Amino acid sequence: MSNRVDRQSTSSHPSQHALYPGSFDPITWGHVDIVRRGLEVFERITIAVARNIKKSPIFSFEERVEMIKETFADEPRIDVVPLAEGLLVDFARDIGVRNVLRGLRAMSDFEYEFQMASMNRRLTDDVDFVFLMTSEEHFFVSSSLIRDVAMNGGDVAEFVPACVNQRLREKFGVLSSPKSSSKG
Ligand code: ADP
Repeated sequence: MSNRVDRQSTSSHPSQHALYPGSFDPITWGHVDIVRRGLEVFERITIAVARNIKKSPIFSFEERVEMIKETFADEPRIDVVPLAEGLLVDFARDIGVRNVLRGLRAMSDFEYEFQMASMNRRLTDDVDFVFLMTSEEHFFVSSSLIRDVAMNGGDVAEFVPACVNQRLREKFGVLSSPKSSSKG
């Protein structure tokens, strides 16, 4: 997969097209919620997946991309690309996108996101950060929490798309949780 987004996918007006960057290790219903809300605001969303993550990922870059594509298979307004190395604002500019979409969960997200957005604003005026709040039921869901629970054999089926759950089970197996065990 190249780092370039093809011309067709950038054909909407820059202000109607958003970039949603992240590591997505793995994609959760929290991410999906932000994308679905984003599609109410923007015509297109390009999801950019980081190849290199600080901590080593449990899923390869290819697996993470595949799970996102499967999740949004019925949504033609989404495309998935690798996030280029370098500054996020440069990447956004390169692909002709004016808005970077970010999700907000708790106050802890806010502090980090505020710093990032402020720094990026110093770096360029061409790109804006747009924050959407997740719904209550996804407020506490993070990829890292999902990884921790799944690695320890917990059931995360209700927090991730079915294709992700399937892969987590293949990787780690699953213990029956009080909710999923039969009561008879
Ligand atoms: P995580 O922080 O879960 O490891 P990413 O690095 O992939 O996820 O995050 C990409 C973007 O998605 C960030 O803006 C992050 O705040 C947002 N995000 C992740 N999980 C959720 C969630 N449950 N609700 C709302 N936004 C989320």
